[in-house]
Amino acid sequence: MYNRGVMRVVLLGPPGVGKGTQAGRLCARFGLLHISTGDMLRAEVAAGSELGLAAKAKMDAGDLVPDDIIIGMVENKIRALDGGCLFDGFPRTLEQAQALDASAAKPDFVAELDLDDDAIVERMSGRLWHPASGRVYHTRFAPPQTPGKDDATSEPLARRADDEEETVRSRLAVYRKQTLPLSEYYSAAAAVNENAARYFRVSGAMPPDEVAAAIIAGLGKTL
Ligand code: AMP
Repeated sequence: MYNRGVMRVVLLGPPGVGKGTQAGRLCARFGLLHISTGDMLRAEVAAGSELGLAAKAKMDAGDLVPDDIIIGMVENKIRALDGGCLFDGFPRTLEQAQALDASAAKPDFVAELDLDDDAIVERMSGRLWHPASGRVYHTRFAPPQTPGKDDATSEPLARRADDEEETVRSRLAVYRKQTLPLSEYYSAAAAVNENAARYFRVSGAMPPDEVAAAIIAGLGKTL
């Protein structure tokens, strides 16, 4: 059931703005379950499941995976949820946002991170990730302790196929067309309905510690 005492947060923002980095911090700080549809899809692709096979071509092209697949996947997570959670990379369409609002995990807060396209392309060109955990690094802005190796496991880091510049530009175009309307969806709901999620924006151009501090302040919490 909907429970006001539990914090459910949506992190909204373009690909590469730093949602994954902030999600890791916020989940550790507040004991939230990290629900990243991108991580879930990459795990399905790695496992070679039917869902993974269906999603892979869309992901490689930078397109969105169909809503019914995504909503079904998130519903399974929500069913097993007993506490707070943070949605990262979900919702990405109006249909997904409406499904989340109608679910038992209706969000309390929506934090939107902003950054301009050129800065995003620059960031993504140095991005590395650890496939098993989803941990993200950056060759320049957040390097691993040992180049090319995950800090916790020392396993090799990889580049995501969809981080190439051309794919990043098309992901940004998809974001503007299909996901940006969610800013209006959430800000309009917050303006007229006191039971709607609280919506606030934070600049993603600041160093990660400052972005985290601004989000935590927006959640009405302290570091
Ligand atoms: P991300 O790691 O969040 O950037 O997601 C990587 C890719 O997975 C996206 O470019 C989409 O192809 C797909 N994806 C992740 N989350 C969603 C979602 N909520 N709706 C549709 N497609 C998604």
